[in-house]
Amino acid sequence: MRATPITPEPATAITKQPSNASELKALIAERAQELGFDLVGFASPEPFVEALRAIEERVVTGMYSGLPWFSLERAQVAGDPRNLMPEVRTIVSLGISYLSYAQPEPSAAGRPRGKVARYAWGEDYHDLFRDKLRALHASVEEMVGRPVEARTLSDTARIVDRAVAQRAGLGWYGKNTNILNRTFGSWILLGELLLDFELPPDSAVRTNCGSCTRCIPACPTGALVEPGVLHNDRCISYLTIEHRGVIPREMRPLMGTWLFGCDICQEVCPVNRKAAPGNHDTLSSERGIGGSPDLIELLEISEDDFRERFRRSPVKRAKWGGLRRNAAIALGNAGDRAAIPALARALSCETALVRGHSAWALGRLGGATARDALRERLWVEEDEWVRSEIAAALRELQVGESERDG
Ligand code: SF4
Ligand code: SF4
Repeated sequence: MRATPITPEPATAITKQPSNASELKALIAERAQELGFDLVGFASPEPFVEALRAIEERVVTGMYSGLPWFSLERAQVAGDPRNLMPEVRTIVSLGISYLSYAQPEPSAAGRPRGKVARYAWGEDYHDLFRDKLRALHASVEEMVGRPVEARTLSDTARIVDRAVAQRAGLGWYGKNTNILNRTFGSWILLGELLLDFELPPDSAVRTNCGSCTRCIPACPTGALVEPGVLHNDRCISYLTIEHRGVIPREMRPLMGTWLFGCDICQEVCPVNRKAAPGNHDTLSSERGIGGSPDLIELLEISEDDFRERFRRSPVKRAKWGGLRRNAAIALGNAGDRAAIPALARALSCETALVRGHSAWALGRLGGATARDALRERLWVEEDEWVRSEIAAALRELQVGESERDG
């Protein structure tokens, strides 16, 4: 049986009792549908040898160099589900679509806006998954009439979730490294329920991207180094979310106005253009940061406001300093000089990371006010790295002015 997309229905109590494994599997799929999962498939828990080999190769060749915790040992653990739960006999692979018809508000003059990856527009999907997976586990226990050993996982490196989804028939590996489903495209979040009994597995889909390569040249940073291979350090998603320190100068102009994550290689995908939207209120823009937040406001957000505003949002992963760093870069790239006063104020904030990137943005925006703010700060700045950023920004301004004059 092949995994199929399902449409959410209101939850109901279990009324039928299964008489065999196929019937039980159908009931679990039905219950997953009632709970609001958009996709469900079943996979055997044998080690994911192919995925493990690919990960090992990428660790060795430095493709994951920005993720020091992603070691060979960790990859080996993730490649065999029995490391997580020795009793596992079946993995239920589940997908939730986060696509909506909402459109981000465009920037207006004097009010530059940043871009946020779609999955992060609303509330943290981990909470949504956790509640639904727990409810599904409880229903499975009710169906089989005994306590069931289980593990619930959502978007975690503790399991090779894309390889699980592929084996369970949810979709195929796109050349942009995402799992692509015929109905929902790659706008899907993945989760798993590990169970201690055997069910008939689904088969993997035979489809692939064919001759399409659209996502590869579309990546502004060249992070897709070959079909299906992502150089993590070059990916805007990694740089804006997981990377904690200084963003290399040569990467900053390539990042555009992405504030948190990046969707470019998904947006250009023809499969995604036809994708059906999901229906999950907590993931909608009204419940979180939305798709186009005000960059000046975020550059100046206080630590308390950051904590309060992003308590239930995936955006908290970027941390307070990281989000303001990203806002500074995005403002530099947005090219709206209305941001200069805020960037000038940021030159004296308490976080060196934000001061340095704000200096870069001022150098990029240019003009007399930016130059005066940089010069003034250079007199009092004590951090060596920030001083070097201010000096580089002043040089850039000078070059820009000479080019204009000459
Ligand atoms: Fe490139 Fe953005 Fe895709 Fe990363 S998320 S590979 S930066 S297009
Ligand atoms: Fe595959 Fe083309 Fe989509 Fe890239 S853009 S993931 S190559 S279908």
